[in-house]
Amino acid sequence: MLHTPHFLTGVVIATQIPDPVVASAVALTSHFVLDAIPHADYIDVPEITPANVVMVVADGVVALSLFFALVEPQLWGYAFVIGVMASLPDFIELPKYFSPKWATLPGIKQFSHWHGITLQFNRDLPFPKRSWSYWILGLLPQVILTVFLVSFLVAR
Ligand SMILES: [Zn+2]
Repeated sequence: MLHTPHFLTGVVIATQIPDPVVASAVALTSHFVLDAIPHADYIDVPEITPANVVMVVADGVVALSLFFALVEPQLWGYAFVIGVMASLPDFIELPKYFSPKWATLPGIKQFSHWHGITLQFNRDLPFPKRSWSYWILGLLPQVILTVFLVSFLVAR
C-alpha cells in the first residue's frame, strides 16, 4: 500500500496505545494486514521511474501534511515513531531499488519474498495496468482507509 494509509494507521495506533512496545508491535502487524488487501501502489513497474518518484513524493507530502494538520504537537514525536513502525517493512525494502544486491542478502531475501509475492499475492488486480479500472480499484481501499483514519483523528 501507499505510505499514507500505512503511516496514518500507525499514528492512530499511537493515539490509542500509550505503551511504545505494544504500539510498535501492533503498528508493525498492521502493515502486513493492510498489504494483504488488494491494492495498487506503483505505476507500471516497481522501479525508480519519474512517475513513481512523483507518486512517492506526493504520497509522502500527503502523509506528512495530514500528520501535522491532525496530530497535536505534544504527540508528534511518539506518533511519528509509531507511524514509521507501521511503514517499516517498506523502508526495509527501500535499498533494493538502489542496489539489487540488497534483495539477495540472507534474511532480506526471505523477508522480501514474503512481503511481496507471498503476502501481496493478490496485488495484481484482474485488469490491465494503466487502465482506469485498475487504478480506481487499486486506490479505492486505500482512499477509504485514509478517509476513515483522517475522520478518526479529526473526531478525537
Ligand atoms: Zn509493504
